[in-house]
Amino acid sequence: MRFDPDKLRSEFPILSTHPGGRPLHYLDNAATAQLPRAVLDAVSRHETESRANVARGVHILAERASMAYEDARGAMARYLNAASPDEIAFTQGTTAAINIAAQGLGAGFKPGDEVVLSELEHHSNIVPWQLLRDRTGIVLRVLPVTDDGRIDLSALDRVLTKRCKLVALAHASNVTGAVTDVARVVEAARAVGARVLLDGAQAVPHGPIDVQALGIDLYALSGHKMFAPNGIGVLWGRQEVLAQMPPVFGGGGMIRHVTFDATTYADPPKRFEPGTPPIAQAVGLGAAARWIEALDRESVVAHELRLTGRMLNGLAGIAGTRIIGPTGLQARRGVVSFALEGVHPHDLCQWVNDRFGVALRGGHHCAEPLMRRFGLDGTSRASLAPYNTDADIDALLEGVADARRHLA
Ligand code: PMP
Repeated sequence: MRFDPDKLRSEFPILSTHPGGRPLHYLDNAATAQLPRAVLDAVSRHETESRANVARGVHILAERASMAYEDARGAMARYLNAASPDEIAFTQGTTAAINIAAQGLGAGFKPGDEVVLSELEHHSNIVPWQLLRDRTGIVLRVLPVTDDGRIDLSALDRVLTKRCKLVALAHASNVTGAVTDVARVVEAARAVGARVLLDGAQAVPHGPIDVQALGIDLYALSGHKMFAPNGIGVLWGRQEVLAQMPPVFGGGGMIRHVTFDATTYADPPKRFEPGTPPIAQAVGLGAAARWIEALDRESVVAHELRLTGRMLNGLAGIAGTRIIGPTGLQARRGVVSFALEGVHPHDLCQWVNDRFGVALRGGHHCAEPLMRRFGLDGTSRASLAPYNTDADIDALLEGVADARRHLA
């Protein structure tokens, strides 16, 4: 069936609401994407028919809840092409996943071991490694960013040394939209015996990922950016990698046996899931993965690229704008950051919200080192989902041109 963004829109109840009394042009999908009816219904059905705690009861609701939770794990294993559902640890989101990876892997690091990051990382993929550095004496090395907002992989030779234990990079940038050339990173990392972690927060909403084909070791993602509820995400790890990681949080559900002298831990992924997990949220994540899989991916990608091209061209045509990121469509997502000379991003976002119903994000996007690289304290950012249409782009361009006339 032909992909029809207007029809798709109708699956998202919030998009036909009129917050502020006007149609909503939601272009803040990189922060949080909206929920389709399929996900809302899956969560609601779970809470009304199967709500119970998981893995601890024999009554019918406990069994249903446990099955639904494990079914969601299976759905995410398929979405990521994991070798086994046991490679899927549910977390609160990308931030939690990277913190667990940092503390877990870090248990095996020695002072002087190196972790390589890049200048465009989200704070979620910087601060956990700094916390680890401050505790263990590892060294952080940073790949620079090119003028068009990509990780400068030509610096890999210089930055990666034999002491490197891990390369941890964004799969796609939440600021510039640039997609990382993972094959090149993996090749360089393997050459020095280092592992590779990808922050997939901005890559997963755009369709299933093949972690095996990528050849990486760990992958972190957030549900709320891929049309699922808040409070759920995944740390995927190759089985042997997760098996080497000690638990980070302790509590119920992650143990084999507990005595006051010595406690033994469950195998992954349970080792990383202490306490009662966000069960309905996991069910929603599984439903979201299935919903994305059912989309006609080629048409969705073509649609988003066409709209991205319209944004890039349209913004370039407004005097005083500067795109922070690739200006072409190669290896980039529909995340477009820009600066408007003489206008603070917060003022611009407020203006287009109040007058045009356009939801953008303005600020440093949790990427202060990248802002510094471009000499800015923030940008305005428009980010797409498959339900965005030409009307959203028209409103954006009209709004930015209007803001320039009134605010610059
Ligand atoms: N990494 C990237 C690239 C992101 O875009 C985000 C969310 N803005 C995060 C990590 C953090 O995700 P969360 O807040 O869902 O943990």
